[in-house]
Amino acid sequence: MQLIQGKLIADQIKEEIADEVKKLTEQGKKRPHLAAILVGHDGGSETYVAHKVKACEQVGFESTLIRFEENISENELLEKVRELNADKDVDGFIVQLPLPSHISENKVIETIDPSKDVDGFHPINLGRMVIGLPSYVSATPAGILELIRRYNIETAGKHCVVVGRSNIVGKPMSILLGQKTNPGNCTVTMCHSRTKDLASITLQADILIAALGSPEFVTQNMVKEGAVVIDVGTSRVASTETKSGFRLKGDVKFDEVSPKCSYITPVPGGVGPMTIVSLLKNTLLAAKGEVY
Ligand code: NAP
Repeated sequence: MQLIQGKLIADQIKEEIADEVKKLTEQGKKRPHLAAILVGHDGGSETYVAHKVKACEQVGFESTLIRFEENISENELLEKVRELNADKDVDGFIVQLPLPSHISENKVIETIDPSKDVDGFHPINLGRMVIGLPSYVSATPAGILELIRRYNIETAGKHCVVVGRSNIVGKPMSILLGQKTNPGNCTVTMCHSRTKDLASITLQADILIAALGSPEFVTQNMVKEGAVVIDVGTSRVASTETKSGFRLKGDVKFDEVSPKCSYITPVPGGVGPMTIVSLLKNTLLAAKGEVY
């Protein structure tokens, strides 16, 4: 079994991005600028956004964090999005999800200028990705592809089973691995909460991607000997052993599943750090005008 060290790869990619930023500034160009909008005080969202801002600092990007209280109106938020669309200094921006229930996430996403949508959530970016045009690819699937690429994991002709069909992870992941590309050329099965006899399908997976958000759901009797297992899940589970009072748990029961795998990602330190560097990469592409 080989551990896929997402944190290590993410650190390497950050160095590569920092080198590119240095080259840009040496050419007299401005630093890439990522802005993030955070609404409310959800613990998970606070942590993710703090990590994103810190990662920007590490690679030499400019970053701006815009905070609103939970009770901001949908119109006020849309106004801010339009302001960022028009702000020439901002290359790309994200609106951290989830949003409070009185705000339509789809409306917010559709209001973001696709050329600044570095999360890759806008329907135009998703659509362009589906037909193979240059686009910002959603950060988590992009990070997983990069891990597969850097570990030289063979994908062509493999059966890939994706558990989860969210618009930000499961769906784009299924499409990307089924594309006529490398990595890609997989035969893909996408599963969800209405899938019957899930274990009989996951057992067929050469590559199993667990993105359902249910801690330690995937057990050893659901995994084929020699499979590649990518664990996207990051559930906060109460713990008396940490200062924060919680631990991050993946969707895979690591201790019992890992001995059966050819490759597996840990949680934390697997997919999570790659998601952040993919966002940085998209911001760099935006600053260089390489997608639009
Ligand atoms: P999500 O919106 O929470 O949706 C979960 C998906 O899993 C849904 O499609 C759901 O099916 C399916 N599902 C739930 N229970 C299931 C079950 N028992 N059997 C089969 N399918 C089941 O998904 P998400 O936003 O992609 O998040 C998934 C997990 O990944 C969460 O733990 C999240 O925190 C984590 N995540 C991590 C990163 C990272 O950077 N590491 C990034 C994004 C998300 P239905 O569609 O039928 O409801």
